[in-house]
Amino acid sequence: MSTATARMKYPRVKNYYNGEFVDSASSVDLDVTSPLDGNMLSTVPMSSTDELNAAVDSAKKAFGPWSTRPIKERAQVFFKYRQLLEENLDELTALVVEENGKTYDEAKAEVEKSIELTEFACSMPQLVSGEILEVSRGVECRTDHFPLGVVASIVPFNFPLMVPNWTMPNALVLGNTMIMKPSEMVPLSCQRMAELLKDAGLPDGVFNIINGGREIVEGICDHKDIEAVSFVGSTNVAKIVYQRSTNNLKRCVALGGAKNHLFVLPDANPSMTATNVTASMSGCAGQRCMVASAMLAVGNGDPIVDQIVVEAQKVVPGKNLGAVISPAAKERIENYITEAEKAGAKVLVDGRGATVDGKEGGTYVGPTVIDYVTPDMAVAREEIFGPVISIMRTKTVDEAIAIENANPYGNAAAVFTQSGGMARYVMEHASAGMIGVNIGVPVPREPFSFGGWNESRFGSNDITGKSSIEFWSKLKKTTTKWNPEAGVNWMS
Ligand code: NAD
Repeated sequence: MSTATARMKYPRVKNYYNGEFVDSASSVDLDVTSPLDGNMLSTVPMSSTDELNAAVDSAKKAFGPWSTRPIKERAQVFFKYRQLLEENLDELTALVVEENGKTYDEAKAEVEKSIELTEFACSMPQLVSGEILEVSRGVECRTDHFPLGVVASIVPFNFPLMVPNWTMPNALVLGNTMIMKPSEMVPLSCQRMAELLKDAGLPDGVFNIINGGREIVEGICDHKDIEAVSFVGSTNVAKIVYQRSTNNLKRCVALGGAKNHLFVLPDANPSMTATNVTASMSGCAGQRCMVASAMLAVGNGDPIVDQIVVEAQKVVPGKNLGAVISPAAKERIENYITEAEKAGAKVLVDGRGATVDGKEGGTYVGPTVIDYVTPDMAVAREEIFGPVISIMRTKTVDEAIAIENANPYGNAAAVFTQSGGMARYVMEHASAGMIGVNIGVPVPREPFSFGGWNESRFGSNDITGKSSIEFWSKLKKTTTKWNPEAGVNWMS
């Protein structure tokens, strides 16, 4: 055992199938370190496709018995799982903080959101009851939702517990069995989730975990026994996963990266806008797909920009601002700021070189406000995924809309104004799937579904809420005639 391995807080991460934690045979492991202080938490194996096959076999075996249970019975497991999430809230929160580096309040909100997602899944029996209608004399049509079979969920690092709960509860209550591929950077919360599901009474094989990287993701896209793939991560990988799995004739929804624009109109309430913009750009250290990344200040933006500077200075690494995921992420974010400065933008609040006393091994970037950014700069066009807001000044709303529309992403946008008419105008013209009006992080709450447009989402369904029902199930249409007296024509 190396000294680093001996210092690990948790044992090596295991795969999970047939209801058991299984040590991977892989000889290649990656370190799992805490971004808070750089301490080594564990190692995660880069599993092989043989191990993926074993997990798929486990899910295949479990599918028959699980899918034929009535949906109300399947939902009962999730009432219990929901209760366990609540009972273990503190411990789950601490684990998310440790492996992801976000603040305690942010991690707690992530667990609470997982509870809300599970509550939605518990209401599934009410949502999927089919339709029935006498369509001609003595003839009725009815619809039923059927599960797909073995499905897969590939998840990113930024919400170790919430994103797995975007997909798992809905897919399972609808009768599917699942292979989950956690992010290799934050594999611990998923393990804990598997334990809680077992304690909640989920039958063995219904939920399975395979740890790994690219080889496992490609293996999922190619696997003949996997019917549907959901992916959440960066746009480059989302495109690969979408193309590869649909090429193999699977259903796929692949959520990608984001560049969210906030439109700040001259009549916006200055203090409310400044606090919202700051919270939106710095929450989760800017590592969320709903982060405010570009601000379009229409007209005289000075009073609000001044207040944003004051608000941003209240955001302090290690206090109310978490760490970014890795040294590579810190370097990437800081390079963006340096490049913008070189290109002529003005850094009003500079988060480069941030450190936290006693946590010198941690990876922190302070809140950063960059003004006088122009649309051609990298900070204006690309996803930064850090606590950085790039402010562009425009004379008109239409000029601001043109900048937002030209961006290839389309996850979210928000408008700050006192005018209902202007809010509606921006809502109609912004090219994004989720819009906020005087709200910086417009995450739709259940039962509304989550999903962007353009290069922020590939596939036709959203990933949560009612839209996910169509993704995780297939509709059967049955036409019945019991009445022998009913006439025979082409419609009956
Ligand atoms: P990522 O794309 O690097 O990784 C996501 C998953 O894909 C991980 O499980 C990873 O192991 C796997 N992966 C990475 N490279 C791969 C490759 N070349 N081939 C196959 N699989 C590969 O994303 P990340 O860094 O973990 O997460 C951050 C990204 O996720 C950001 O772009 C963020 O915007 C996005 N995100 C989007 C949403 C959304 O709802 N649109 C939500 C959360 C995160």
